[in-house]
Amino acid sequence: MEKKSQQSKRQSTNGITLVDIWSVQCGECFKWRLIPTEEEFEEIRSKFTKDPFVCSKKPGVSCDDPADIERDDTRTWVIHKPGIPKTPSGFKRRLVMRKDFSKMDCYYDAANGKRLRASTDVLKFLDKFPKFKNDVSLADFSFTGPKIM
Ligand SMILES: [Zn+2]
Repeated sequence: MEKKSQQSKRQSTNGITLVDIWSVQCGECFKWRLIPTEEEFEEIRSKFTKDPFVCSKKPGVSCDDPADIERDDTRTWVIHKPGIPKTPSGFKRRLVMRKDFSKMDCYYDAANGKRLRASTDVLKFLDKFPKFKNDVSLADFSFTGPKIM
């Protein structure tokens, strides 16, 4: 069975997609565990290939406990590729669901208000604002959006 990290999304009426839960699947028992914050989710996702998630990484939880959540039709589920780099500090990674639910677009907002939509934008950004080169490189960005289930 393929190990996955995943988040669930719901679409609000104005078309803006809000994440309401973050969850990851245990590599041993395959139960889904809720992750409280996006930051923790990103941390797990960035290390997922080398360091798969297991239930015991959640405090007080083991594989014997029932799953935190089951996949069902009341939510739209999207699957994140494991190994996406943790969002560099000072940047915010944004995921936006297309209106037809066909895919999610991914971009980054920098602290200075610049929006990066592709690798070429990152390179231009680093050229224009060289001070960021101390902290970030192209490898810190991934524009691969999650897959819709
Ligand atoms: Zn488990």
